[in-house]
Amino acid sequence: MTLQSVLDELRQRPGKGEVIPVIDPVTEEQITEFTDCGPEAVDDAVARARAAFEAGVWHGLPDRQRARIMWRIADLMDQHAEEFAQLDSLNTGMPIEQARMIVPTCAEFFRYYAGWCTKVNGTAHEVQMEGGVSGEFAEMHAYTLKEPYGVVGLIFPWNGPIFNACAKIAPALAAGCSSVVKPAEETPLSALLLDRLITEAGVPDGVVNLLNGYGHTAGAALVAHPDVEKIAFTGSTEVGKKIVEASAGNLKKVMLELGGKSPVLIYDDADLNMAIMMASMGIFVHSGQGCVCGSRIFVQRGVYDQVVEGIATIANSLKLGGPKEEGSNIGPLISQKQLTRVMGYIDEGKRDGVEVVTGGHRLDRRGYFVHPTVLTNVDRSARLYREEIFGPVVTVLPFEDDDEAVALANDTSYGLAATAWTTNLSRAHRIAKRLQAGTVTLNSQLVFDHAVPFGGYKQSGWGHEFGREGVEAYLQTKSVWAQL
Ligand code: NAD
Repeated sequence: MTLQSVLDELRQRPGKGEVIPVIDPVTEEQITEFTDCGPEAVDDAVARARAAFEAGVWHGLPDRQRARIMWRIADLMDQHAEEFAQLDSLNTGMPIEQARMIVPTCAEFFRYYAGWCTKVNGTAHEVQMEGGVSGEFAEMHAYTLKEPYGVVGLIFPWNGPIFNACAKIAPALAAGCSSVVKPAEETPLSALLLDRLITEAGVPDGVVNLLNGYGHTAGAALVAHPDVEKIAFTGSTEVGKKIVEASAGNLKKVMLELGGKSPVLIYDDADLNMAIMMASMGIFVHSGQGCVCGSRIFVQRGVYDQVVEGIATIANSLKLGGPKEEGSNIGPLISQKQLTRVMGYIDEGKRDGVEVVTGGHRLDRRGYFVHPTVLTNVDRSARLYREEIFGPVVTVLPFEDDDEAVALANDTSYGLAATAWTTNLSRAHRIAKRLQAGTVTLNSQLVFDHAVPFGGYKQSGWGHEFGREGVEAYLQTKSVWAQL
């Protein structure tokens, strides 16, 4: 299977809307294009998913058989790992080594969730119910069933194309749902290859249905569709709110994995070399286009200057460039739109008098590259301090003690992730309780495991992915009562 065949297949997919170009963010040139699928295609995909669900072609299979098919998807992904890496690297500009590291983790979603096919179960309850006619207890047997929602819409962004696809499709399959999948319009390539492999592995027709189109067309039609029971969405908080509104028609359930403005606390007793390195990579990796990127760093006063200098030194040592450029370790932003957005925040900050320790400009070359940027002397009401930038831009501010550190960290409408670097273990665990975030990392950053739940506090989301919670997100609970 060649890369060209994926590009060609995308171009040939039927559609009824605008022609959408797929742009290489390194060269700013067009890689391929596709036609927005249009509203009828959304109706058709939902109808196919519904028919497959009602016929029980997937959730009606023995659990073990579904698990085996999911393992086969993972094995096929391993066999095509290099193509996935090449596609995501081409589409996002991320270094090829980074893309190669991510693909096995993506395949593993199918193995991890294959295991859940045979482990989803309810609970049993022996109930003595008060209030019989003559005051006696009625003996009841009650139990719960975990049932797939039915048809679910899976919508996700461009920042980790194959990762985001697998993180949603695998648990939906394990739960027995039929899905309609809409990848980001910027990054449709790897999902197309995955779709082929899902079919090749033996998932029956209609169980997974891929749509290509814009968010405001295909995505919005899917969210508003009356025959979709649940939407699992990863993306910005702004669009997350639109999804909540648009899903009200049939009160469909909604899971949201949204944005962040994650704080990183560095105490004066931390392993500073490690903290500086990881806090730097925690914002600059993938040009800051990661939901858990630590974009607000707070440093205890005594080591503040040292940490600012250390982070700036690392920022200056990173080599930006495309996957084919020797030695490059950081790629570009995804699009002209993101470049304009990120530079808009930086320029506004400069006008407001922030101190640019390093960076603050795009590279003087083709491609959407922004120099890793370290800002200090930031007003805490500034937009760049309060809003998610999703670029390689970090603010660094000092703090005196635990109370101030926690107050600064929690002063945000987001609550996706938070980090503390300190060798004082009691303090670390005390702080972990006080940080308002769905994921807290202690003396570590950029951690992930399929089994550990992930979700946002505050405006960073509703519900969880990964782990048991991840499969339960696609299951509803039925209580059955029987009089004994
Ligand atoms: P986005 O919200 O603009 O788009 C995400 C997806 O939603 C895309 O597929 C898009 O086409 C679709 N979409 C857009 N408008 C829609 C609408 N009205 N109805 C239905 N679908 C619509 O986000 P983005 O800019 O592509 O991605 C960056 C954002 O994703 C950041 O905010 C980042 O924090 C977030 N993100 C969160 C997580 C997480 O797990 N919490 C992970 C990765 C990215």
